[in-house]
Amino acid sequence: MAVREVKLCLLGDSGVGKSSIVMRFVKDTFKEQLESTIGASFMAKRLVVNDNTFLFQIWDTAGQEKYRALAPMYYRGAEAAIVVYDVTREPSFDSVKDWVKELKRNGVSDMVIAIAGNKCDLEDLREVNTKDAQEYSDNIGAIFTETSALTAVNVSELFTSIAKKLPDVDV
Ligand code: GDP
Ligand code: MG
Repeated sequence: MAVREVKLCLLGDSGVGKSSIVMRFVKDTFKEQLESTIGASFMAKRLVVNDNTFLFQIWDTAGQEKYRALAPMYYRGAEAAIVVYDVTREPSFDSVKDWVKELKRNGVSDMVIAIAGNKCDLEDLREVNTKDAQEYSDNIGAIFTETSALTAVNVSELFTSIAKKLPDVDV
């Protein structure tokens, strides 16, 4: 069975946990103190979903304003994007909407978009409620999940849902 390659990029504000999600998915580890991403970094990971093998080629971008202009290099030609926010920081959810607008304007039209509300382990500090984020994601036809790179909740599931939603794959 051929390996299905999937170019995917992560977008979202600095500090929401993009690199931590990638580390959890690729290496199943978590670090309190990750070096902040400069520009973008690349990792690959195989995932088997219902007997189909996917090779995720993951571009993890830096959220800082100074690198924002570089983002199109990574999301153009990507089949899937994960737009991450931090459930404890409302402004990071507003940024999701800006990223989605930008993707709809410049991305490929059939791109699979997933919205991930990360740090769901910090329930006491929550600022973004699940229902609002779910409704927003439904409206734009995106996958929605709340993740924790710390506890690993929903991280591999996020990539599995993306794999299942890719076009031309019968899984
Ligand atoms: P990025 O700038 O979006 O790549 O964010 P990082 O992955 O560098 O994470 C920023 C900070 O948030 C780091 O101190 C991480 O340890 C922390 N962090 C990331 N994910 C989680 C999570 O799911 N839960 C908690 N509690 N902290 C997290
Ligand atoms: Mg990072």
